[in-house]
Amino acid sequence: MAKMRKKADLPTKVCACCGLGFAWRRKWARDWDQVKYCSDRCRSAAKGRAQREPRA
Ligand SMILES: [Zn+2]
Repeated sequence: MAKMRKKADLPTKVCACCGLGFAWRRKWARDWDQVKYCSDRCRSAAKGRAQREPRA
């Protein structure tokens, strides 16, 4: 059986960088569909590893 329920049924995703799961945060409310990483650190790490993107 599943563990105890969390306080809320927040949507979750798996970080594309570190592979850990993370839950919805209010700061992502606007662009949750585009969130792929659990943190800014993972995002920049993944981008830095994959390819260098010119700052727009
Ligand atoms: Zn991560």
